[in-house]
Amino acid sequence: MSTAIGRDLARAIQAELAAEVQALRAQGYPPPGLAVVLVGDDPASLVYVRNKSRACNQVGIVSSVHHLPRTTTEAEVVARLAHLGADASVHGILVQLPLPAHIDETKVIEALSPDKDVDGFHPLNVARLFTRQPFLVPSTPAGIVEFLHRQHIAIAGKQAVIISASRIVGKPLALMLLNEGAAVTVCHIYTRDLAAITREADLLVSAAGKVKLVTADMVKPGSVVVDVGINFHEGKTVGDVDAAAVAPRVALLTPVPGGVGPVTVAMLLRNTLLAYKHQLGLLSRPDG
Ligand code: NAD
Repeated sequence: MSTAIGRDLARAIQAELAAEVQALRAQGYPPPGLAVVLVGDDPASLVYVRNKSRACNQVGIVSSVHHLPRTTTEAEVVARLAHLGADASVHGILVQLPLPAHIDETKVIEALSPDKDVDGFHPLNVARLFTRQPFLVPSTPAGIVEFLHRQHIAIAGKQAVIISASRIVGKPLALMLLNEGAAVTVCHIYTRDLAAITREADLLVSAAGKVKLVTADMVKPGSVVVDVGINFHEGKTVGDVDAAAVAPRVALLTPVPGGVGPVTVAMLLRNTLLAYKHQLGLLSRPDG
């Protein structure tokens, strides 16, 4: 197994998206535009925003970063989102989270134009996923599902266990895997005897953000384990899974770094292109 399987996959997806953008531009369509709203100077957020902008450039999406000071009020963020919502050159908008504590994230997300909500967090897009009519869906779980598809790993009929009930990973992933026919168990910080549940998993996804949470005795032999965690530990970036001990027991373990992380960014670009095509009337239905 490549140690950068996700990076290779992300590169392939981005090449497909770049070709699609190029073909649309050749037909005279305008460039797709993504606006990123960043409030404050959180160092990790600054890195994420830079990576997203770079990836946009690589596929021909015009990205603009709206970097607002930490003291920006909720009303000012909402006003900026209304302005971007009305801007025809902006097809996708994302608000980099977390926001400073004085701003209510839910209110900001609800102020986004649902048609431009490329993170898939707006209640309308959540409802579309819930009702099996996905349009713009969150990038990290979308990246996990895309990864499984492209590795030809069947989902229907599998026992899937997700360690995370978060809004950005666990909950949307549970819906996506359910929609694809898996039997899904969602675990979280209050789950009792986590190991007894994970040992039953044909597909185990961990996105807790805890080093060595998943140990060799917690996995089913021959299963597929997707490590979503990004932890900084002893000067290295590691996932949630004790990779050295778990990898020999399972059929596939995604690496960290170089696993689902890069695919997440590719899914954001795919969402931007989807939103763009929807706004230009190139899709017959919102879900294509
Ligand atoms: P979060 O804190 O919002 O959610 C963490 C979830 O894990 C919660 O549901 C919590 O109950 C559960 N959890 C935490 N510790 C646990 C434990 N000991 N046992 C069982 N459950 C436990 O975090 P988040 O924003 O969803 O991110 C989670 C992790 O995923 C982080 O490491 C983050 O860096 C990573 N992440 C990676 C990507 C990517 O692209 N690869 C994207 C988003 C998040």
